[in-house]
Amino acid sequence: MSQVTNRVNYALFGFGLKNNQLPMLRFATKAAPLPKRLENAYDAGFRYAEIFLTSTHLENWKEVASIAECYDMSYGLHFPNRAPLSRKHLKKAAKLYRRLKCESMVIHQPMFRRYEQDLLDIDPELCLAVENHRLNPEHFRNWAESHQWLTLDVEHLWKHTLNQPPLPVLLSTLKKFLKQHGQQVRRVHLPGYEPGSIEHRPISFNPRLARKVFTALSKIQYQGLVVSETRPSMQKMEFLCQDIALYQSWEKNRLKKIRKKQRQK
Ligand SMILES: [Zn+2]
Repeated sequence: MSQVTNRVNYALFGFGLKNNQLPMLRFATKAAPLPKRLENAYDAGFRYAEIFLTSTHLENWKEVASIAECYDMSYGLHFPNRAPLSRKHLKKAAKLYRRLKCESMVIHQPMFRRYEQDLLDIDPELCLAVENHRLNPEHFRNWAESHQWLTLDVEHLWKHTLNQPPLPVLLSTLKKFLKQHGQQVRRVHLPGYEPGSIEHRPISFNPRLARKVFTALSKIQYQGLVVSETRPSMQKMEFLCQDIALYQSWEKNRLKKIRKKQRQK
């Protein structure tokens, strides 16, 4: 058993908590379906990954599935961002979703508008989680109210919707949003953004943001993937390991806090 798995087990069972009291999140990395990327993610300790798809990946969906199945990880899909896609592409997306036993697929609003009906005709049980992108506050509200399932991108909310206020403003907006719409959220994108920084850095680049968002999600017993949505040039072993270390230290602290509260009852 690897050191990482040992640590996870310790965190899980070392505190005598029942399953429904565990603050566990499904912490994922984002990767193209390439053996090297998935192998690095697995070796770093990730057990969840979001697979980013293009039309070419869909054409080779069986190969993508076989590569993913080499690693003992659970997957979520990210639907291609570029049109046009044929009916065949859509069918293959649905097949891949089924074969990898996915629980949701991220999709951007323009692609959702264009392909929602066809995708659901092919497979009515696909959970299409529509992502917020460059939305002003009014459009953000509309986005949350008009879709059944959501992908919440925290960086997009902070940068594009709120226009980069200090962290406490983002966090209070996020908490209000989760209170109202938390049950619709099926995926969370959480890069290590801070005002003025480049986009899509590993989450370990902003540990304060990470811990606060992890805690807010754990409080609503969020069950979907939380993705450190990292740009390809930064998907390096060093950063993957830093992300895992950050997540595990949060999890350990959260368990300690929960246990302390229980003792005080
Ligand atoms: Zn995103």
